[in-house]
Amino acid sequence: MTMCALPAVTGFLAEIRQDGGRPLEPVFASLGSRATPGERTADQSLRTVLLHSGAPDGAYAHARGRTLVLAGELYNQDELVRLLPGHALPDSDAALVLALFGRYDVHAFRLLNGRFAALVAAPGRAVLATDHAGSVPLYVSAAPGRVLAATEAKALRTAPEGRPVAARPVRRLPGTHQVPAGTVLDIEVATGNPVTHRTWAPPLARRIVREEEAVESVRRALERAVRVRTGGGTPLVVLSGGIDSSTVAALAARRSAGPIGTVSMGTEEADEFPQARVVAGHLGSAHREVTITTADLLRRLPHAVWAAECLDADIIEYLLPLTALYLELGGTGRRVLTGYGADIPLGGMHREDRLPELDTAVCHDMDTFDGLNEMTPTLSGIGGHWSTHPYWDRDVLDLLVSLEAGLKRRYGQDKWVLRAAMGDVLPHEVVVRPKLGVHEGSGTTSSFTRLLTDAGVPPDRVRDAKRLVVRELFDLVVVDGRHPDEVATGAVVELVTDRLASGARPVPR
Ligand code: AMP
Ligand code: MG
Repeated sequence: MTMCALPAVTGFLAEIRQDGGRPLEPVFASLGSRATPGERTADQSLRTVLLHSGAPDGAYAHARGRTLVLAGELYNQDELVRLLPGHALPDSDAALVLALFGRYDVHAFRLLNGRFAALVAAPGRAVLATDHAGSVPLYVSAAPGRVLAATEAKALRTAPEGRPVAARPVRRLPGTHQVPAGTVLDIEVATGNPVTHRTWAPPLARRIVREEEAVESVRRALERAVRVRTGGGTPLVVLSGGIDSSTVAALAARRSAGPIGTVSMGTEEADEFPQARVVAGHLGSAHREVTITTADLLRRLPHAVWAAECLDADIIEYLLPLTALYLELGGTGRRVLTGYGADIPLGGMHREDRLPELDTAVCHDMDTFDGLNEMTPTLSGIGGHWSTHPYWDRDVLDLLVSLEAGLKRRYGQDKWVLRAAMGDVLPHEVVVRPKLGVHEGSGTTSSFTRLLTDAGVPPDRVRDAKRLVVRELFDLVVVDGRHPDEVATGAVVELVTDRLASGARPVPR
């Protein structure tokens, strides 16, 4: 299987029914052509809407009365194929997973390292699965006689009310739940009853390894994670010039025959262009700088919420600059690699020299990432692109989380093990560059704050106001199904400002 720029299918809605109800007409934020394959047996029907990039069959497999739909891709086919008779690689990721399901049933999903959301329709059963990180969101609405599942919550907004399941309910979509990260829900269609299997959990133990061994294993794991994400084509790396994305760009460049692409965004208020330029120059990449005005950046707030379906205002601040960048990229479906997420397993946001606090932060962040949709491919999907994050590769993540904290913070440096692993590949100034978050480097946090204070929000209510703005946007573009082009950030800010001024109680945390 050669890797294409985009996976065969990047999103889906699937309806498994014994009740013969009316099919949904789903809306998706992600772009893609649509195909609507279906199957019918004596006692149930399967109808799917696939968002595809030209060859939907690559993500839709049918064998022995079972159908598998896979949005996304796998990164360990080389290992997985060894589990199949004759070690013959099926011609698609979907066929591979279905063959493994035939052998291991739900436990097949414990074997996969990938970026996917999947559904298996089997007689009387709907099996829903997320990857270890839940990096492709998956939502479900289940009731006796029907199971509806989709990679975007808004695709289920007109679903009839589902029954409660043991998963996170989606705000104001009664009976719609998000399948947790690293989880299989095995649902009996007749009753809508789910059985939950966890297929991954963050490591709790810490490994004690020598410096050189840690450095070498981090380097090897990252090289592999970048290699399996780049395949044959020319990758594009969203590059800030910080250690995380520069590492990804450097490792991609080392295995690419020609120059890779890199792109940096900035606003008229702030950018990291000089830092990114050092890296691009060093690697000889085809580099672009994209300046987005602060006004245009803030106009994209509804798009960020629409794509991420996230209610956390801090996360939306991280995602907004990248959303705006993906919308500006143009061209047809690019495969985009990011340095997103390295700080979580490495405690990179933790800037003091204390190991207990560092590991507390790692534990907390690994316990609370789920449901935030930080990694969702829909952010780039609204521009027709596919993003993937090597630091959240299952093997890389398992390794980084499990290293003892003294390898993460060492010699007064944060993310020491990563910096040490890249010492021979990147310029010294890049290796030692301190952390700057994308929300800081683009001026997003400060311009969002200013938008609110200019509208009359008192400084001590800015956090509340940001939460209210994000919540209001969620209600408009997810729950009510409005297109974000029709939603004006300014109008929502005005509404929230009035609501705060009229004495609305602070937003609960
Ligand atoms: P950060 O918050 O800096 O860790 O950013 C997360 C990821 O977003 C980085 O690893 C980059 O891949 C990407 N990124 C951050 N800032 C920029 C930028 N100014 N331009 C392009 N990509 C960026
Ligand atoms: Mg940065």
